[in-house]
Amino acid sequence: MKDEITDITIIGGGPTGLFSTFYAGMRQMSVRLIDSLPELGGQLTELYPDKYIYDVGGFPKILAKDLVNNLVEQAKYAEPDFHLGETVQSYRKEDDHFVLTTDKGEYLTRTILITAGVGAFQPRKLGLENEVEFEGASLQYAVRDLEKFKDKDVVVLGGGDSALDWALMLEKLAKSVTLVHRRERFTAHETTVQQVKDSSVTVKTSLNVTEIKGDAGQIEELVLTAKDGSEEVIQADQLIVNFGNISSLGPLKDWGLKLDKNSIEVDAHMQTNIEGIFAAGDVTTFEGKVKLIATGFGEAPVAISYAKSSYDAKSRIQPKHSTSVFKQD
Ligand SMILES: Cc1cc2nc3c(=O)[nH]c(=O)nc-3n(C[C@H](O)[C@H](O)[C@H](O)COP(=O)(O)OP(=O)(O)OC[C@H]3O[C@@H](n4cnc5c(N)ncnc54)[C@H](O)[C@@H]3O)c2cc1C
Repeated sequence: MKDEITDITIIGGGPTGLFSTFYAGMRQMSVRLIDSLPELGGQLTELYPDKYIYDVGGFPKILAKDLVNNLVEQAKYAEPDFHLGETVQSYRKEDDHFVLTTDKGEYLTRTILITAGVGAFQPRKLGLENEVEFEGASLQYAVRDLEKFKDKDVVVLGGGDSALDWALMLEKLAKSVTLVHRRERFTAHETTVQQVKDSSVTVKTSLNVTEIKGDAGQIEELVLTAKDGSEEVIQADQLIVNFGNISSLGPLKDWGLKLDKNSIEVDAHMQTNIEGIFAAGDVTTFEGKVKLIATGFGEAPVAISYAKSSYDAKSRIQPKHSTSVFKQD
């Protein structure tokens, strides 16, 4: 256990957690940030790093991964103690602080800010026995590195917006793109479905992948099976499985927090029903809540300011403007 008590520990390194980290630094709080994923950025890094975001103030258009890089650079101002690949499990209250337990250790903290988004999430898998052999090499659950697909025969599985968007995105650089959906109809937006129909993407519906053939991590062929049992074999260098994600607040559900489905109820100060534990971003719910990056950015300074005043009665709720805090050069 680390003996030093950190002013705030932030659970979740998505955009809200990263901006909260910066803000805690600006309010001269010591800060620790813990995320169960190996990389910072939350949903942006995990689900759509190469997509453009158009609705973050001040950025007419920005790639999700570039927004994350900017947020990380900004967060570093706080000199945070980053812990990646570590999942927060439980807490207990001791005197004037909390003891947080993760799967790797225990940490002392005066306050806690939960920015856990949709919770620790995992991609929904195909469910085939040898699937794991190809994961990361020729089977992906998200498009991270576009270069991987250059001049390759790519097969995308799924019928939602992400699957179709990726098929359209990869059409420009892959040798071929085949979209396979287990149902007849797509759930994606109808304009996107039309764009796919008008593109060079080969569309196959009412088929399931029932076998992956390949060697040493490299997929060679996929066996597609129809409801009537008939089979078709197609070539593939890269397979993208986009069946959505399973997310859950997991261990945080047992903390005694007031929950509404998978979201944590907070008051106007972003405080949960447990004194000293605050929440912000996608994980929260309150009257009028909108789940967006922009709203998470707005909730962060509120949560940080009230977290600080919860242990430092003299601290002002209304922060000084950054233009006064930082030297202008
Ligand atoms: C395909 C797609 C496109 C989108 N496009 C847009 C868009 O254009 N504009 C927009 O505003 N929003 C968009 N969104 C939504 C946006 O990504 C979310 O609103 C945003 O990511 C919420 O940020 P967050 O920091 O609150 O949570 P998240 O980004 O979900 O991050 C939460 C983090 O907490 C971590 N975590 C959870 N539980 C634990 C635990 N117990 N221990 C440790 N770590 C934990 C998770 O690993 C995760 O990294 C999109 C979402 C998707 C899926």
